[in-house]
Amino acid sequence: MWRSLVARLTGGQKVVGSNPVIPIMYIFASIISALILVLVICLIRTFKSKKPIAKETRQLLISALIPIVSNLVVVFSSNYQLSGICYFLYFSSTDWMLAFMIRFTCKYCGYEYRKTLKERLVGTFCGLDTLIMVFNPFFHHVFSSEEVLFGNGHLYYNYVSEWYHYIHLGLSYVLAAVCLVLLLIRFIKSSSIYRERYFVMIMSVLVVAGWELYYILNPNVLEYSMVGYGSMAVLIYYFALEYKPFVATYRLLSEVVGNISEGIVFFDENNICIFANNKAKEMLGYGQDQIEGAWKDIMMMTAGDEFDFEDITREGYFQCVRNITKEEGERITYEIEYQQVLDKKEKYTGAFVALKDRTEEQKKLDEERFVATHDRLTGLYNADYLYSRVEKTLKENPNQRYIVVTSDIKGFKMVNDIYGTRTGDDILIKIARLIEGYASKDTIYGRISNDKFGLIMRRERYRESLFSEDMVKATTSNPDMFYPIIIHVGVYEVTDRRIPVSVMFDRAFMALSTIKNDMQKRVAYYDSNLREDMLWEQRVAGSIDAGLSTQQIIPYMQAQVDVDGNIQGVELLARWMHPTEGFLKPRRFLPTLEKNGYVVKLDQYMWERACSIIKKWESEGWEDLYISVNISPVDFFFIDVVESFKSLVELYEVDPKKLRLEITENAMMYNSGHRIESIERLREAGFLVEMDDFGNGFSSLNMLKDTPIDVIKIDMAFLDETKNPKRAKQILESMIALAKKLEIPVITEGVETAEQVQYLTEMGCDMFQGYYFAKAFPMEEFEDRYLRSGEKLIIANGGNDVLY
Ligand code: C2E
Ligand code: CA
Ligand code: CA
Repeated sequence: MWRSLVARLTGGQKVVGSNPVIPIMYIFASIISALILVLVICLIRTFKSKKPIAKETRQLLISALIPIVSNLVVVFSSNYQLSGICYFLYFSSTDWMLAFMIRFTCKYCGYEYRKTLKERLVGTFCGLDTLIMVFNPFFHHVFSSEEVLFGNGHLYYNYVSEWYHYIHLGLSYVLAAVCLVLLLIRFIKSSSIYRERYFVMIMSVLVVAGWELYYILNPNVLEYSMVGYGSMAVLIYYFALEYKPFVATYRLLSEVVGNISEGIVFFDENNICIFANNKAKEMLGYGQDQIEGAWKDIMMMTAGDEFDFEDITREGYFQCVRNITKEEGERITYEIEYQQVLDKKEKYTGAFVALKDRTEEQKKLDEERFVATHDRLTGLYNADYLYSRVEKTLKENPNQRYIVVTSDIKGFKMVNDIYGTRTGDDILIKIARLIEGYASKDTIYGRISNDKFGLIMRRERYRESLFSEDMVKATTSNPDMFYPIIIHVGVYEVTDRRIPVSVMFDRAFMALSTIKNDMQKRVAYYDSNLREDMLWEQRVAGSIDAGLSTQQIIPYMQAQVDVDGNIQGVELLARWMHPTEGFLKPRRFLPTLEKNGYVVKLDQYMWERACSIIKKWESEGWEDLYISVNISPVDFFFIDVVESFKSLVELYEVDPKKLRLEITENAMMYNSGHRIESIERLREAGFLVEMDDFGNGFSSLNMLKDTPIDVIKIDMAFLDETKNPKRAKQILESMIALAKKLEIPVITEGVETAEQVQYLTEMGCDMFQGYYFAKAFPMEEFEDRYLRSGEKLIIANGGNDVLY
């Protein structure tokens, strides 16, 4: 069509019949046919493409094929009518091709177009144009034909443009220009990354325009403009469906990699760093262009002293987490991922390393782990973690000897009670710091519970003085506290590694628990007997109920006599005929029962038995005898002692005067105000209260000052053999004199010899109890020996029974 336009413009030059260039027709045919073939191949390939734009590309290809095929037919046809139809198809389908080109462009550029008013408008114009051209056979307003004869005698009909053809061309150029403008707008507006996309399309259109321009300036007898359009369709197909926009991809990737929150480093085949993103530079502490050292730095960071980096890189992939301490002391955690890149032939072409900053996660993890394994107050290990650490250490050092040490603060509840939990906490923290200070590198220590701490140390480092002296000094140096902080320490040497670690610590605690009121003793050692003892204690304590209900526990009675040897009363003393452990004296079983409070059951039983015996004796004519019973300090913690006695005498209808209650001085020590009040109430109720073991406690005289008692019972220790008997006697004498002054009767226990009786009598002692007179007997035997005879007189009778 360009050619005919030019023909007109250049003065109606006619080429008729005499063209000498014979093969030109075949060259043209070959070019057009080749183009058709390429277009068909492209068309087939559009069906395979999954890209969304494949459909529009396909429509464009089909619409380009029609005018090209028509053009080819025209050249080879000598039929006037057929040429006319083909020219019509050729002109009208150019419209539709450009209409599809607009549809394609809009889709490609992302404009809203399909089924819009704009599309309908374009369709209407093209439809109208086609309709107008249909009437050409009648009006010849679009084109007329002229004959062209090739040198080989072939005739074909060339068209000659009429007035409407120029309108049609104008429409076509407008449509083509619309496409170009749409692409240009997108090209300008879009991000530089995507410009390539539009650039290739614009270039495709411009190539065609260039071709057309060349063709206008160099007119030819044959119509070559379709070669340009066909080529454009092929180019468009290629750029839309086949071409991969490398620049865009590359730039997009480098943009992503450059700004990603992970550090990314690329190495070439010689392990030279060729790229490191900003994050990686930041993480490695590099400046902008300072990446050459990356391989060495990452290698050092990764390999540490744990593994051989060369080995790992040979593997092709690895991942690890590393803690790094920076120069400023800041600790950071990096996750390092290394991946080799191989080409298709498995040849090493480089590698990349991804660095992830895991510092925050690690910190959080460390914190959580700390909370789970440490005691919140002191910051020491908690029991579970201590045990697991100890277990690990024991396993790792099978030949090392170890000592387990535990500590417990005596009466810590009291500290909390008197000074408040704040002070209690402060003391615990202080002890924790103390242990920390004493601990050597290989000592493992922790807080086991409340006021209990534990540690394990190498045997050769253990010194008892550390715990018996240093610790005492450190904990008693608080001038604001008068309550002494006494720490008891239990020690167990790990001899049997098969037992659980918690049991090792239990054993140390077991040793610790053997320290009673001994103010000097701070450290106790576990030995296997201790365990036996503990087991024995458990057995005995566990059988107390059965012991009481089946009368294994028997009240023995020991006479108390006046200066003339007349029995005034008895002290009731417990004996246990244990089915498996044999005959037990209180010394054996009392401490255990006191430890766990079972002594209350025993005492209540004994008190009740005392009442029933008094009742029985009254009925048998021995109504003037009293019975002394013992009250354990523990009883006051568990029961209302006063009420118990009151209800007992009421129940048995016994005169309270016939019950003497022996309370040791030590029982008075704790909560003395309350105890004194109890004693007062007991006395008001008519009971006689004796202070047992007088002289044995910490502040006997002081106690005497405040405590309203009826009888003083001097401790038998004053009669023991001593280096300085004279002095002992003087003390005894003063004590008795003091009691006399206070008008309190005195009884001395543990009297074993006539000499003792003599000097005690001289000193003014009122009553005696001891083997010199009588040992303790079961009730039946006591009655037989002393009561049934009717005399109740036993002067020096028991002198030979010292062995009891
Ligand atoms: P205690 O109250 O000081 O009782 C006196 C202890 O001295 C008794 O020992 C008695 O058998 C013993 N004894 C008596 N005369 C002599 C003597 O001439 N020489 C020597 N060496 N010892 C003598 P026993 O019966 O073994 O009782 C020991 C302690 O057990 C008692 O000391 C008492 O505190 C406690 N006890 C005994 N029975 C009971 C009880 O039923 N309840 C409570 N809470 N304590 C009891
Ligand atoms: Ca007693
Ligand atoms: Ca006593």
